[in-house]
Amino acid sequence: EFIQALTMDGSRDDSSKKSEISEAEWKRMTIEETQKSLPVYPFKEDLIEAVREHQILIVEGETGSGKTTQIPQYLVESGFTEGNKKIGCTQPRRVAAMSVAARVAEEMGVKLGNEVGYSIRFEDCTSERTILKYMTDGTLHREFLSEPDLASYSVMIIDEAHERTLHTDILFGLVKDIARFRPELKLIISSATLDADKFSKFFDDAPIFRIPGRRYPVDIFYTKAPEADYIDACCVSVLQIHATQPLGDILVFLTGQDEIETCQEVLQDRVKRLGSKIRELVIIPVYANLPSDMQAKIFDPTPPNARKVVLATNIAETSLTIDNIIYVIDPGFAKQNNFNSRTGMESLMVVPISKASANQRAGRAGRTAPGKCFRLYTAWAYKHELEDNTVPEIQRINLGNAVLMLKALGINDLIHFDFLDPPPHETLVLALEQLYALGALNHHGELTKLGRRMAEFPVDPMMGKMLLASEKYKCSEELVSIAAMLSVNSAIFYRPKDKIIHADTARKNFNHLSGDHLSLLQVYNQWVDTDHSTQWCYENFIQYRSMKRARDVREQLVGLMQRVEIDMVSCLPETVNVRKAITAGYFYHVAKLSKSGNYKTIKHNQTVLIHPNSSLFEELPRWVLYHELVFTTKEYMRQVVEIDSKWLLEVAPHYYKAKELEDSTNKKMPKVTGRAVMTQ
Ligand code: ADP
Ligand code: MG
Repeated sequence: EFIQALTMDGSRDDSSKKSEISEAEWKRMTIEETQKSLPVYPFKEDLIEAVREHQILIVEGETGSGKTTQIPQYLVESGFTEGNKKIGCTQPRRVAAMSVAARVAEEMGVKLGNEVGYSIRFEDCTSERTILKYMTDGTLHREFLSEPDLASYSVMIIDEAHERTLHTDILFGLVKDIARFRPELKLIISSATLDADKFSKFFDDAPIFRIPGRRYPVDIFYTKAPEADYIDACCVSVLQIHATQPLGDILVFLTGQDEIETCQEVLQDRVKRLGSKIRELVIIPVYANLPSDMQAKIFDPTPPNARKVVLATNIAETSLTIDNIIYVIDPGFAKQNNFNSRTGMESLMVVPISKASANQRAGRAGRTAPGKCFRLYTAWAYKHELEDNTVPEIQRINLGNAVLMLKALGINDLIHFDFLDPPPHETLVLALEQLYALGALNHHGELTKLGRRMAEFPVDPMMGKMLLASEKYKCSEELVSIAAMLSVNSAIFYRPKDKIIHADTARKNFNHLSGDHLSLLQVYNQWVDTDHSTQWCYENFIQYRSMKRARDVREQLVGLMQRVEIDMVSCLPETVNVRKAITAGYFYHVAKLSKSGNYKTIKHNQTVLIHPNSSLFEELPRWVLYHELVFTTKEYMRQVVEIDSKWLLEVAPHYYKAKELEDSTNKKMPKVTGRAVMTQ
């Protein structure tokens, strides 16, 4: 039976042995047993031989076969790091890079950051001693700037290649190129799915090493009718499984932190009400910005006689493998960045997943025993509405950042860059135009001095430009704080269900009449004034962890500002300059209030709305600038600030014509309600 299947899994059934040997010894033994039980283990020697024999190797194996955690260790054991060389391994997601590095450090019995480390944007946990380095694909992309031939590496593993993130796709072209003049560099392209042939073809018919998978059957269930509220449907399904199905953990796929938190609250609430009528349910959230102390919990074994339910984004689809999942709940959605090259607008939206994704998700249920997958959509929808494959990022997102990086690497001819799948021509042209408008490229398409400075910052070109503009407007202190806060933005305010009114009142106290960027700045500065107090965060419904992260990011940005020789100066209490500097970076993101009471973007006349969370929601200034668009039921502008249209001519004279900006009286529309709880 099921309970038995779980205890027979080998790693933790023998509790009697435990008392006779030390805890550390026990840990080492279970690690060794786990390592030996992974599908890749029997192929260790063959794999090493293949790496020795071929410069480029494509490795294909199902998720959880040990590619990410084991292969780099095999290479270390086989001497590939001799002569002061490193092994690098890229991951599309930061949580995966951190968590895998932590796991491998533990397996190798070393301290994380010493021999085994990781490097992600704004956080470098490596040292002189590091021989095995996990990093995000974006981080490796940046490393090319300081080390164009990757000379310090003997092996580079481009892992999770099937995810086809923008950075991974560009890395393919870059590593293929350097492999030609560094014959001793080994490349491994590792993938969980069937794209291996395509990768092989791209890398001049590199051999494919297939790790045979082990998979138990997974029964698939569909709903009879579409679900109106899939979060609620998830919660109901979890509780149903918990009440009626044999023990075994549940994995639920949600689209983001907000959904995960909602689902977690609802579940906790319902479980509390059921009391001792049901068995213990351990709820574990997993998402991109998960704080590291909570990341450690993902892999904690489920207590006896309890059930674990993991609420995850599609990070758990292939990047992270959580053992002992027997049930998968799949609502069929994921959050995606989509770029419309016609309007030049990029927005984050929740979209249906592909069939390939749905099958990966279902597969998560059958790793250790036969499983069940509950799809919260109809069989008809699966068959007729889902695309076969997810479109690679390079074909659907804004390429501004990627193009700037490639230009900074001296790659001028982007049309002929060796892309696995080339981006649409319009998108490439738009990115070039945008960089030109920002002043990063000259009219020959060459990187300018400003562009070179922008490339120093691991941020979107618009944000880079904004930071650099703070030099002219003498507000660098303010702008680095704002940039840091924006980079953790949605996770700053905390809104517990039972204290919504208190939380919203607390939030309103930070509202700044000029807009959200300045509200965020107020939050940051007040927190600094309290000496980074946790108590203050608690009282104001602010996530302390996010603030700490903002402080870390800010420190890094200050370091980069020093590198480009910008002094840190403040312009407070005056905020016009702060807003001008923001406009210098984000002049693309401007909308104007129309007579109908809607906002329209200037160049493309798209209808957009101020997000209800914004401090300007009831203010409706004539001209606004937004940080990003989020599409839910409508296109919402998130993080909005009021600007003066005259500034647009000042900061982007080659992009805006005076005529477009007519009717620039900055008179506000009458307030919609008389309820204005604004301060300052
Ligand atoms: P692949 O890369 O082929 O998908 P991995 O190397 O990521 O496989 O995973 C191999 C095994 O290591 C899996 O069983 C996974 O559960 C386990 N594992 C990975 N990270 C951790 C961790 N932090 N703690 C415990 N087990 C882990
Ligand atoms: Mg992996």
